[in-house]
Amino acid sequence: MEADAVRRLCVVGAGTMGHQIAMLGALAGCATTVVDVRPEALEQAQAHNRAHMARWVARGRVTEQDVAQAFERLRWTTRLEDGARDADFVIEAVIERLEEKQEVFKAVDRAAPPHAVVATNSSTIRSSLLAPVTTRADRVCNMHFFNPPLVMELVEVVMHPQTAPATIASAMALARRMGRTPILLKKEISGFVVNRILWALVDEALRLYEAGVASFEDIDIAIKKGLRHPMGPFELMDFNGIDVAYNVRMQRFRETGDPQEQPPRSIVEKYEQKAWGRKTGKGWYSYPRPGSA
Ligand code: NAD
Repeated sequence: MEADAVRRLCVVGAGTMGHQIAMLGALAGCATTVVDVRPEALEQAQAHNRAHMARWVARGRVTEQDVAQAFERLRWTTRLEDGARDADFVIEAVIERLEEKQEVFKAVDRAAPPHAVVATNSSTIRSSLLAPVTTRADRVCNMHFFNPPLVMELVEVVMHPQTAPATIASAMALARRMGRTPILLKKEISGFVVNRILWALVDEALRLYEAGVASFEDIDIAIKKGLRHPMGPFELMDFNGIDVAYNVRMQRFRETGDPQEQPPRSIVEKYEQKAWGRKTGKGWYSYPRPGSA
């Protein structure tokens, strides 16, 4: 299935990631159905996309007509069967729980046409854990967008051992059609490329801080001024959530059993104090308006 042949897209899960992935699909010309079990998530998704597109129109990134046409291509439903029934390509973006994703993959496999590709947007769950619950292991892969998908250009496409070359070609071409830049991982590996490199950077920053080599503020300055990163590692932890940093490390520790993978002391302390970053108003830095950017 070539991406040009992807006429109908189905996005399952209309949360942080799914609603924007669906918008990208509709802007790329796909008739796109968005599925969520919570009607309020569908309402919120539409409102967020409308607000986002209004900003794009104001900045001249798209025309009002482009946006109107894209919204005509979007359908919203709580019934997975309705969304998947005629889909050429399905992107799953439901909550990060293996059992939930396996149930969604089973249901999509039953409902979608045999030619349809089913991709997961998961950051940590490998598609080889989802493929076996379907009858189409060769048409399953990870397609990992970054948050927020309407802004972040990268998509990591990850093969599992049975993924067919045609599936990869289709996922890569669809990402390009959405205006994203895909890269291909030929092997599954925890964290894929970006998060592995990010973890290495953040872990070293925490080691330097905990060893008393420099303050966290100075480490942030070093990375911004010395490597031209837009944010330092501590600012980034606050932005993404220190609870997320903690949970990712706990997951890595559970997977490997390696004590070195356990969350560093300073992360455990902040996690236990609920100093989770921007969302709680305090993390490495303080934020007067919790939840604000
Ligand atoms: P989210 O919690 O914001 O949204 C998940 C949505 O899925 C919710 O609206 C929920 O109602 C819906 N849902 C749950 N079960 C469902 C089901 N059975 N059928 C249909 N809808 C269902 O989550 P998110 O942050 O958008 O993450 C979704 C996926 O994207 C996860 O796998 C995550 O690993 C991945 N991801 C997240 C980020 C991020 O920064 N948030 C970045 C990259 C990838």
